[in-house]
Amino acid sequence: MTTIVLGSGIAGISAGYHLQKQGEQVVIYERDNDWGGLCGNFTIKGFRFDKFVHFTFAPDEYTRNIFEESSPTYSHPSISYNYYNGYWLKHPAQNNLAPLPTEEKVAIIKDFINRKHTPVDAIKNYEEWLRVQYGDYFAENFPFKYTRKYWGVEAKDLETRWVGNRMHSPDLEEVLRGAFEIQDKNFYYTNYMKYPKKGGFRSILNKCREGLDIRFNKEVVRINTTEKLVEFADGTKAGYSRLISSLPLPEIIKMLNKVPENVQKAAFNLQHTSGYMVSLGFNKPDIAKHLWFYIYDEDILPARVYSPNLKSSDNVPEGCSSLQAEIFFANKGGADITTTGVSACGWKVPSAEEVLRNTTTKLIEMKLFKEEEIVVKDIRFEKYANVIFDKDIYKNRQIVLEYLKGIGIESIGRFGKWEYMWTHQAFESGILESSLV
Ligand SMILES: Cc1cc2nc3c(=O)[nH]c(=O)nc-3n(C[C@H](O)[C@H](O)[C@H](O)COP(=O)(O)OP(=O)(O)OC[C@H]3O[C@@H](n4cnc5c(N)ncnc54)[C@H](O)[C@@H]3O)c2cc1C
Repeated sequence: MTTIVLGSGIAGISAGYHLQKQGEQVVIYERDNDWGGLCGNFTIKGFRFDKFVHFTFAPDEYTRNIFEESSPTYSHPSISYNYYNGYWLKHPAQNNLAPLPTEEKVAIIKDFINRKHTPVDAIKNYEEWLRVQYGDYFAENFPFKYTRKYWGVEAKDLETRWVGNRMHSPDLEEVLRGAFEIQDKNFYYTNYMKYPKKGGFRSILNKCREGLDIRFNKEVVRINTTEKLVEFADGTKAGYSRLISSLPLPEIIKMLNKVPENVQKAAFNLQHTSGYMVSLGFNKPDIAKHLWFYIYDEDILPARVYSPNLKSSDNVPEGCSSLQAEIFFANKGGADITTTGVSACGWKVPSAEEVLRNTTTKLIEMKLFKEEEIVVKDIRFEKYANVIFDKDIYKNRQIVLEYLKGIGIESIGRFGKWEYMWTHQAFESGILESSLV
Protein backbone atom coordinates (compact mmCIF):
# COMPACT_ATOMS: atom_id res chain seq x y z
CA MET A 1 0.00 0.00 0.00
CA THR A 2 1.61 3.25 -1.11
CA THR A 3 1.07 6.72 0.19
CA ILE A 4 1.60 9.23 -2.57
CA VAL A 5 2.69 12.78 -1.77
CA LEU A 6 2.37 15.35 -4.53
CA GLY A 7 5.08 18.03 -4.55
CA SER A 8 8.54 18.07 -2.98
CA GLY A 9 8.39 21.54 -1.44
CA ILE A 10 8.87 21.83 2.31
CA ALA A 11 5.33 20.60 3.05
CA GLY A 12 5.69 17.50 0.84
CA ILE A 13 9.17 16.70 2.22
CA SER A 14 7.84 17.05 5.76
CA ALA A 15 4.85 14.76 5.03
CA GLY A 16 7.12 12.15 3.43
CA TYR A 17 9.64 12.27 6.28
CA HIS A 18 7.10 11.99 9.09
CA LEU A 19 4.99 9.25 7.51
CA GLN A 20 8.01 7.19 6.49
CA LYS A 21 9.28 7.46 10.08
CA GLN A 22 5.96 6.02 11.23
CA GLY A 23 6.36 3.04 8.88
CA GLU A 24 4.28 4.16 5.92
CA GLN A 25 5.59 3.43 2.42
CA VAL A 26 5.81 6.84 0.72
CA VAL A 27 6.61 8.03 -2.80
CA ILE A 28 6.83 11.75 -3.57
CA TYR A 29 6.12 12.92 -7.12
CA GLU A 30 7.57 16.25 -8.24
CA ARG A 31 7.03 18.17 -11.49
CA ASP A 32 10.48 19.81 -11.44
CA ASN A 33 13.86 18.12 -11.80
CA ASP A 34 14.89 19.00 -8.23
CA TRP A 35 13.36 19.24 -4.75
CA GLY A 36 12.51 22.22 -2.53
CA GLY A 37 9.66 24.00 -4.34
CA LEU A 38 9.73 27.63 -3.20
CA CYS A 39 12.53 26.70 -0.76
CA GLY A 40 14.63 25.53 -3.70
CA ASN A 41 17.38 27.36 -5.56
CA PHE A 42 19.25 27.58 -8.85
CA THR A 43 22.89 28.28 -9.70
CA ILE A 44 24.28 30.29 -12.61
CA LYS A 45 28.06 30.57 -13.13
CA GLY A 46 28.69 29.79 -9.45
CA PHE A 47 26.06 32.28 -8.17
CA ARG A 48 23.33 30.53 -6.15
CA PHE A 49 19.93 32.19 -5.90
CA ASP A 50 17.05 31.02 -3.70
CA LYS A 51 13.56 31.38 -5.10
CA PHE A 52 12.73 34.71 -3.39
CA VAL A 53 14.20 36.03 -0.14
CA HIS A 54 13.83 33.19 2.46
CA PHE A 55 15.07 33.13 6.04
CA THR A 56 13.70 31.04 8.90
CA PHE A 57 12.61 32.07 12.38
CA ALA A 58 10.72 28.91 13.42
CA PRO A 59 9.33 29.44 16.94
CA ASP A 60 8.48 25.78 17.62
CA GLU A 61 11.35 23.82 19.22
CA TYR A 62 10.78 20.57 17.32
CA THR A 63 10.77 22.30 13.91
CA ARG A 64 13.70 24.53 14.84
CA ASN A 65 15.77 21.52 15.91
CA ILE A 66 15.11 19.67 12.65
CA PHE A 67 16.22 22.74 10.68
CA GLU A 68 19.31 23.24 12.88
CA GLU A 69 20.30 19.55 12.73
CA SER A 70 20.05 19.72 8.94
CA SER A 71 22.61 22.47 8.58
CA PRO A 72 24.60 24.96 10.69
CA THR A 73 23.04 28.40 10.27
CA TYR A 74 23.97 32.07 10.40
CA SER A 75 21.80 34.23 12.62
CA HIS A 76 21.27 37.61 10.98
CA PRO A 77 19.81 40.53 12.97
CA SER A 78 16.50 41.52 11.32
CA ILE A 79 17.72 44.89 10.07
CA SER A 80 16.27 46.01 6.78
CA TYR A 81 15.71 49.29 4.93
CA ASN A 82 13.15 51.15 2.87
CA TYR A 83 13.77 53.13 -0.31
CA TYR A 84 11.34 56.01 -0.81
CA ASN A 85 11.72 58.93 -3.26
CA GLY A 86 15.51 58.78 -3.06
CA TYR A 87 15.67 58.47 0.75
CA TRP A 88 16.81 55.42 2.71
CA LEU A 89 14.79 54.82 5.89
CA LYS A 90 15.44 52.07 8.38
CA HIS A 91 12.59 49.54 8.63
CA PRO A 92 9.83 50.02 9.73
CA ALA A 93 9.56 53.38 7.95
CA GLN A 94 6.85 54.73 10.29
CA ASN A 95 9.32 54.53 13.22
CA ASN A 96 12.28 55.88 11.28
CA LEU A 97 11.19 59.05 9.51
CA ALA A 98 14.40 60.97 10.36
CA PRO A 99 15.94 61.10 6.84
CA LEU A 100 12.76 62.64 5.28
CA PRO A 101 12.39 66.39 4.52
CA THR A 102 10.72 68.42 7.31
CA GLU A 103 7.57 69.12 5.25
CA GLU A 104 6.94 65.42 4.78
CA LYS A 105 7.62 64.55 8.42
CA VAL A 106 5.18 67.27 9.52
CA ALA A 107 2.48 65.93 7.15
CA ILE A 108 2.98 62.36 8.42
CA ILE A 109 3.00 63.27 12.12
CA LYS A 110 0.00 65.64 11.81
CA ASP A 111 -2.06 62.91 10.16
CA PHE A 112 -0.83 60.34 12.67
CA ILE A 113 -2.07 62.49 15.56
CA ASN A 114 -5.40 63.19 13.83
CA ARG A 115 -6.02 59.61 12.73
CA LYS A 116 -9.36 57.95 13.47
CA HIS A 117 -9.47 55.58 16.44
CA THR A 118 -11.88 53.00 15.04
CA PRO A 119 -12.07 49.80 17.15
CA VAL A 120 -10.29 46.92 15.37
CA ASP A 121 -13.44 44.79 14.99
CA ALA A 122 -15.25 47.68 13.26
CA ILE A 123 -12.52 48.06 10.61
CA LYS A 124 -13.87 47.04 7.19
CA ASN A 125 -10.72 46.46 5.14
CA TYR A 126 -6.93 46.85 4.97
CA GLU A 127 -7.16 50.42 3.66
CA GLU A 128 -9.10 51.46 6.74
CA TRP A 129 -6.75 49.44 8.99
CA LEU A 130 -3.75 51.31 7.57
CA ARG A 131 -5.40 54.73 7.97
CA VAL A 132 -6.27 53.91 11.60
CA GLN A 133 -2.75 52.65 12.43
CA TYR A 134 -0.65 55.26 10.65
CA GLY A 135 -2.80 58.25 9.58
CA ASP A 136 -3.69 59.21 6.01
CA TYR A 137 -0.44 60.70 4.68
CA PHE A 138 1.78 57.79 5.67
CA ALA A 139 -0.85 55.20 4.68
CA GLU A 140 -1.31 56.70 1.22
CA ASN A 141 2.39 57.19 0.48
CA PHE A 142 3.90 54.06 1.98
CA PRO A 143 1.74 50.93 2.56
CA PHE A 144 -0.93 51.76 -0.07
CA LYS A 145 1.85 51.90 -2.68
CA TYR A 146 3.58 48.82 -1.29
CA THR A 147 0.28 46.92 -1.29
CA ARG A 148 -0.11 47.60 -5.02
CA LYS A 149 3.47 46.37 -5.59
CA TYR A 150 3.49 43.35 -3.25
CA TRP A 151 -0.13 42.19 -3.41
CA GLY A 152 -0.97 43.57 -6.84
CA VAL A 153 -4.30 44.96 -5.58
CA GLU A 154 -5.62 48.06 -3.79
CA ALA A 155 -5.58 48.03 0.02
CA LYS A 156 -9.37 48.46 0.07
CA ASP A 157 -9.70 45.05 -1.62
CA LEU A 158 -7.92 43.15 1.16
CA GLU A 159 -9.35 41.96 4.44
CA THR A 160 -7.17 42.21 7.58
CA ARG A 161 -7.01 38.89 9.48
CA TRP A 162 -3.70 38.01 7.78
CA VAL A 163 -1.87 41.04 9.23
CA GLY A 164 -1.27 39.56 12.73
CA ASN A 165 2.14 40.76 14.02
CA ARG A 166 3.51 41.30 10.52
CA MET A 167 3.13 45.09 10.73
CA HIS A 168 4.28 47.26 13.62
CA SER A 169 1.76 49.81 14.96
CA PRO A 170 3.75 52.62 16.61
CA ASP A 171 2.70 54.99 19.40
CA LEU A 172 3.27 58.75 19.17
CA GLU A 173 6.50 58.66 21.17
CA GLU A 174 8.04 56.09 18.79
CA VAL A 175 7.02 58.13 15.74
CA LEU A 176 8.44 61.34 17.22
CA ARG A 177 11.73 59.78 18.36
CA GLY A 178 12.21 58.17 14.96
CA ALA A 179 11.57 61.51 13.26
CA PHE A 180 14.44 63.14 15.18
CA GLU A 181 17.09 60.44 15.30
CA ILE A 182 18.00 57.00 13.91
CA GLN A 183 16.52 54.26 16.12
CA ASP A 184 18.53 51.26 17.31
CA LYS A 185 15.52 49.36 18.64
CA ASN A 186 14.22 46.51 16.49
CA PHE A 187 10.48 46.69 15.76
CA TYR A 188 10.43 43.67 13.46
CA TYR A 189 8.35 40.59 14.38
CA THR A 190 11.52 38.59 15.01
CA ASN A 191 14.98 39.69 16.19
CA TYR A 192 16.95 37.20 14.15
CA MET A 193 16.61 35.51 10.79
CA LYS A 194 18.41 32.20 10.32
CA TYR A 195 20.00 31.03 7.10
CA PRO A 196 22.06 27.88 6.35
CA LYS A 197 25.80 28.44 6.09
CA LYS A 198 26.04 26.16 3.06
CA GLY A 199 23.83 24.91 0.24
CA GLY A 200 21.17 27.64 0.09
CA PHE A 201 17.93 27.91 2.05
CA ARG A 202 16.68 24.41 1.32
CA SER A 203 19.54 22.96 3.41
CA ILE A 204 17.23 23.38 6.44
CA LEU A 205 15.58 20.25 5.03
CA ASN A 206 18.68 18.06 4.54
CA LYS A 207 17.81 15.81 7.46
CA CYS A 208 14.27 15.17 6.25
CA ARG A 209 15.10 14.82 2.57
CA GLU A 210 17.66 12.01 3.14
CA GLY A 211 16.20 8.58 2.40
CA LEU A 212 13.02 9.86 0.73
CA ASP A 213 11.86 8.35 -2.55
CA ILE A 214 11.30 11.43 -4.71
CA ARG A 215 10.50 10.92 -8.39
CA PHE A 216 11.38 13.99 -10.47
CA ASN A 217 9.99 15.29 -13.78
CA LYS A 218 6.63 13.81 -12.79
CA GLU A 219 4.00 16.41 -13.50
CA VAL A 220 0.60 15.29 -12.25
CA VAL A 221 -2.06 16.02 -14.86
CA ARG A 222 -5.05 13.94 -13.69
CA ILE A 223 -6.27 12.27 -10.54
CA ASN A 224 -8.89 9.53 -10.50
CA THR A 225 -10.09 9.25 -6.89
CA THR A 226 -12.48 6.36 -7.67
CA GLU A 227 -9.72 4.13 -9.02
CA LYS A 228 -7.10 5.78 -6.77
CA LEU A 229 -4.80 6.59 -9.67
CA VAL A 230 -2.53 9.55 -10.35
CA GLU A 231 -1.63 10.23 -13.99
CA PHE A 232 1.46 12.09 -15.14
CA ALA A 233 2.30 14.23 -18.16
CA ASP A 234 4.68 11.49 -19.42
CA GLY A 235 1.69 9.12 -19.77
CA THR A 236 2.53 6.92 -16.75
CA LYS A 237 0.18 6.22 -13.83
CA ALA A 238 0.64 5.38 -10.15
CA GLY A 239 -1.85 3.81 -7.75
CA TYR A 240 -2.23 4.95 -4.16
CA SER A 241 -3.83 3.91 -0.92
CA ARG A 242 -3.52 7.41 0.53
CA LEU A 243 -3.09 10.72 -1.33
CA ILE A 244 -1.51 13.83 0.14
CA SER A 245 -1.21 16.93 -2.01
CA SER A 246 0.73 20.18 -1.66
CA LEU A 247 -0.39 21.34 -5.11
CA PRO A 248 -2.18 24.68 -5.37
CA LEU A 249 -5.95 24.32 -4.90
CA PRO A 250 -6.87 25.87 -8.28
CA GLU A 251 -4.54 23.39 -10.00
CA ILE A 252 -5.68 20.19 -8.30
CA ILE A 253 -9.32 21.00 -8.98
CA LYS A 254 -8.52 21.16 -12.72
CA MET A 255 -7.06 17.60 -12.48
CA LEU A 256 -10.23 16.01 -11.14
CA ASN A 257 -13.29 14.67 -12.96
CA LYS A 258 -16.89 15.74 -12.37
CA VAL A 259 -16.11 18.53 -9.93
CA PRO A 260 -19.35 20.37 -9.01
CA GLU A 261 -19.64 23.78 -10.64
CA ASN A 262 -19.67 25.70 -7.35
CA VAL A 263 -16.36 24.08 -6.36
CA GLN A 264 -14.77 24.87 -9.73
CA LYS A 265 -15.94 28.46 -9.41
CA ALA A 266 -14.63 28.77 -5.85
CA ALA A 267 -11.22 27.39 -6.93
CA PHE A 268 -11.05 29.74 -9.91
CA ASN A 269 -11.84 32.71 -7.71
CA LEU A 270 -8.97 32.04 -5.31
CA GLN A 271 -6.64 34.98 -5.82
CA HIS A 272 -2.88 34.80 -5.48
CA THR A 273 0.18 36.67 -6.60
CA SER A 274 2.60 35.48 -9.24
CA GLY A 275 6.15 36.72 -9.10
CA TYR A 276 9.21 37.41 -11.19
CA MET A 277 12.70 37.00 -9.72
CA VAL A 278 15.41 39.14 -11.27
CA SER A 279 18.75 37.66 -10.19
CA LEU A 280 21.96 39.62 -10.63
CA GLY A 281 25.56 38.55 -9.99
CA PHE A 282 28.40 41.09 -9.75
CA ASN A 283 32.16 40.92 -10.25
CA LYS A 284 32.77 42.90 -7.02
CA PRO A 285 32.36 41.82 -3.37
CA ASP A 286 30.67 44.90 -1.89
CA ILE A 287 27.66 45.76 -4.08
CA ALA A 288 24.99 44.80 -1.55
CA LYS A 289 24.71 47.18 1.42
CA HIS A 290 21.55 45.76 3.01
CA LEU A 291 20.44 42.19 3.68
CA TRP A 292 17.09 43.20 2.22
CA PHE A 293 15.12 46.38 1.49
CA TYR A 294 11.66 47.45 0.34
CA ILE A 295 10.98 49.91 -2.50
CA TYR A 296 7.88 52.14 -2.40
CA ASP A 297 8.32 54.08 -5.66
CA GLU A 298 5.85 52.69 -8.18
CA ASP A 299 7.92 53.49 -11.27
CA ILE A 300 10.47 50.99 -9.94
CA LEU A 301 8.85 47.57 -10.46
CA PRO A 302 10.56 45.51 -7.69
CA ALA A 303 8.79 45.56 -4.33
CA ARG A 304 11.73 44.06 -2.48
CA VAL A 305 15.40 43.36 -3.11
CA TYR A 306 17.70 41.14 -1.06
CA SER A 307 21.30 40.00 -1.16
CA PRO A 308 22.05 36.26 -1.46
CA ASN A 309 25.74 36.83 -0.63
CA LEU A 310 24.92 38.67 2.62
CA LYS A 311 22.73 35.70 3.61
CA SER A 312 25.78 33.47 3.08
CA SER A 313 29.04 34.01 1.20
CA ASP A 314 28.60 30.38 0.07
CA ASN A 315 26.03 31.76 -2.42
CA VAL A 316 28.64 33.52 -4.61
CA PRO A 317 32.07 32.86 -6.10
CA GLU A 318 34.90 34.40 -4.10
CA GLY A 319 35.22 38.16 -4.49
CA CYS A 320 31.69 38.52 -5.92
CA SER A 321 28.28 39.65 -4.67
CA SER A 322 24.65 39.35 -5.74
CA LEU A 323 21.14 40.78 -5.53
CA GLN A 324 17.72 39.37 -6.29
CA ALA A 325 14.70 41.60 -6.93
CA GLU A 326 11.08 40.41 -6.46
CA ILE A 327 8.27 41.71 -8.66
CA PHE A 328 4.68 40.64 -8.06
CA PHE A 329 1.33 40.76 -9.86
CA ALA A 330 -2.17 39.70 -8.79
CA ASN A 331 -3.44 36.49 -10.36
CA LYS A 332 -6.53 34.33 -10.07
CA GLY A 333 -7.12 30.58 -10.38
CA GLY A 334 -3.59 30.03 -11.73
CA ALA A 335 -4.25 31.97 -14.96
CA ASP A 336 -1.33 32.40 -17.33
CA ILE A 337 -0.80 36.11 -16.80
CA THR A 338 2.52 36.17 -18.66
CA THR A 339 0.60 35.40 -21.84
CA THR A 340 -2.51 37.49 -21.26
CA GLY A 341 -0.53 40.48 -19.90
CA VAL A 342 -3.41 41.28 -17.54
CA SER A 343 -3.50 40.83 -13.75
CA ALA A 344 -6.50 39.57 -11.72
CA CYS A 345 -7.64 43.14 -11.08
CA GLY A 346 -7.19 44.16 -14.70
CA TRP A 347 -3.81 45.85 -14.35
CA LYS A 348 -1.17 45.51 -17.05
CA VAL A 349 1.45 42.80 -16.49
CA PRO A 350 4.69 43.73 -18.25
CA SER A 351 6.63 41.10 -20.19
CA ALA A 352 9.72 39.44 -18.69
CA GLU A 353 11.90 41.62 -20.95
CA GLU A 354 10.23 44.81 -19.66
CA VAL A 355 10.56 43.66 -16.03
CA LEU A 356 14.24 42.84 -16.50
CA ARG A 357 14.92 46.16 -18.25
CA ASN A 358 13.02 48.23 -15.67
CA THR A 359 14.69 46.44 -12.75
CA THR A 360 18.28 46.80 -13.94
CA THR A 361 17.83 50.38 -15.20
CA LYS A 362 16.13 51.57 -12.02
CA LEU A 363 18.55 49.84 -9.66
CA ILE A 364 21.43 51.44 -11.61
CA GLU A 365 19.68 54.84 -11.28
CA MET A 366 19.49 54.17 -7.53
CA LYS A 367 23.31 53.89 -7.73
CA LEU A 368 23.36 50.35 -6.39
CA PHE A 369 25.75 49.13 -9.11
CA LYS A 370 27.00 49.85 -12.63
CA GLU A 371 26.01 47.93 -15.76
CA GLU A 372 29.60 46.79 -16.34
CA GLU A 373 29.72 45.16 -12.89
CA ILE A 374 26.95 42.67 -13.82
CA VAL A 375 28.22 39.19 -14.73
CA VAL A 376 24.94 37.27 -14.27
CA LYS A 377 21.50 38.58 -15.28
CA ASP A 378 18.52 36.22 -15.07
CA ILE A 379 14.73 36.44 -14.84
CA ARG A 380 12.36 33.64 -13.74
CA PHE A 381 8.66 33.43 -13.05
CA GLU A 382 6.71 31.61 -10.33
CA LYS A 383 2.99 31.25 -10.89
CA TYR A 384 2.22 30.84 -7.18
CA ALA A 385 3.88 33.26 -4.74
CA ASN A 386 1.45 34.59 -2.11
CA VAL A 387 -2.17 33.85 -1.32
CA ILE A 388 -4.24 37.07 -1.62
CA PHE A 389 -6.61 37.81 1.24
CA ASP A 390 -9.52 39.26 -0.68
CA LYS A 391 -12.94 39.40 0.99
CA ASP A 392 -14.08 36.01 -0.36
CA ILE A 393 -10.96 33.98 0.43
CA TYR A 394 -12.32 32.15 3.48
CA LYS A 395 -15.59 31.17 1.81
CA ASN A 396 -13.93 29.97 -1.42
CA ARG A 397 -11.15 28.14 0.38
CA GLN A 398 -13.58 26.28 2.62
CA ILE A 399 -15.69 25.10 -0.33
CA VAL A 400 -12.62 23.66 -2.08
CA LEU A 401 -11.05 22.10 1.01
CA GLU A 402 -14.28 20.41 2.07
CA TYR A 403 -14.67 18.97 -1.40
CA LEU A 404 -11.12 17.56 -1.44
CA LYS A 405 -11.57 16.07 2.01
CA GLY A 406 -14.79 14.43 0.84
CA ILE A 407 -13.01 12.65 -2.02
CA GLY A 408 -10.11 11.52 0.18
CA ILE A 409 -7.39 14.03 -0.72
CA GLU A 410 -5.39 15.42 2.20
CA SER A 411 -4.24 18.90 1.33
CA ILE A 412 -1.12 20.46 2.93
CA GLY A 413 1.24 23.40 2.49
CA ARG A 414 0.90 27.04 1.58
CA PHE A 415 -1.16 26.52 -1.55
CA GLY A 416 -2.78 23.27 -0.44
CA LYS A 417 -4.20 24.92 2.68
CA TRP A 418 -4.37 28.29 0.89
CA GLU A 419 -2.84 30.10 3.83
CA TYR A 420 -0.16 32.80 4.34
CA MET A 421 2.35 30.24 5.65
CA TRP A 422 5.96 30.78 6.51
CA THR A 423 8.25 27.82 5.80
CA HIS A 424 8.01 26.51 9.35
CA GLN A 425 4.20 26.56 9.09
CA ALA A 426 4.27 24.77 5.72
CA PHE A 427 6.62 22.21 7.31
CA GLU A 428 4.26 21.75 10.28
CA SER A 429 1.26 21.35 7.95
CA GLY A 430 3.05 18.25 6.61
CA ILE A 431 3.18 16.54 10.02
CA LEU A 432 0.37 14.03 9.60
CA GLU A 433 -0.74 10.96 11.52
CA SER A 434 0.13 7.66 9.90
CA SER A 435 -2.84 5.65 8.63
CA LEU A 436 -1.12 2.46 9.88
CA VAL A 437 -2.40 1.02 13.11
C1 LIG B 1 8.33 35.98 -2.11
C2 LIG B 1 8.32 34.96 -1.02
C3 LIG B 1 9.18 35.10 0.05
C4 LIG B 1 9.14 34.20 1.11
N1 LIG B 1 9.99 34.37 2.16
C5 LIG B 1 9.93 33.51 3.21
C6 LIG B 1 10.83 33.68 4.30
O1 LIG B 1 11.72 34.53 4.30
N2 LIG B 1 10.70 32.83 5.35
C7 LIG B 1 9.74 31.84 5.38
O2 LIG B 1 9.69 31.09 6.37
N3 LIG B 1 8.88 31.67 4.34
C8 LIG B 1 8.96 32.47 3.26
N4 LIG B 1 8.10 32.29 2.20
C9 LIG B 1 7.06 31.22 2.29
C10 LIG B 1 7.57 29.85 1.86
O3 LIG B 1 8.21 29.90 0.62
C11 LIG B 1 6.41 28.88 1.73
O4 LIG B 1 5.60 28.89 2.86
C12 LIG B 1 6.85 27.42 1.53
O5 LIG B 1 8.01 27.31 0.76
C13 LIG B 1 5.70 26.66 0.87
O6 LIG B 1 6.06 25.31 0.74
P1 LIG B 1 5.03 24.26 0.12
O7 LIG B 1 5.70 22.95 0.14
O8 LIG B 1 3.73 24.42 0.80
O9 LIG B 1 4.78 24.74 -1.38
P2 LIG B 1 5.78 24.75 -2.64
O10 LIG B 1 7.14 25.10 -2.23
O11 LIG B 1 5.11 25.60 -3.66
O12 LIG B 1 5.79 23.23 -3.11
C14 LIG B 1 4.86 22.68 -3.99
C15 LIG B 1 5.59 21.69 -4.89
O13 LIG B 1 4.64 21.07 -5.76
C16 LIG B 1 5.23 20.97 -7.05
N5 LIG B 1 4.17 20.87 -8.05
C17 LIG B 1 3.31 21.84 -8.45
N6 LIG B 1 2.47 21.37 -9.38
C18 LIG B 1 2.79 20.07 -9.59
C19 LIG B 1 2.27 19.04 -10.42
N7 LIG B 1 1.26 19.27 -11.28
N8 LIG B 1 2.83 17.80 -10.35
C20 LIG B 1 3.86 17.54 -9.49
N9 LIG B 1 4.39 18.49 -8.69
C21 LIG B 1 3.87 19.74 -8.73
C22 LIG B 1 6.05 22.22 -7.18
O14 LIG B 1 7.04 22.12 -8.19
C23 LIG B 1 6.64 22.35 -5.77
O15 LIG B 1 7.86 21.68 -5.68
C24 LIG B 1 8.18 33.14 1.09
C25 LIG B 1 7.35 32.96 -0.01
C26 LIG B 1 7.43 33.85 -1.08
C27 LIG B 1 6.55 33.65 -2.27
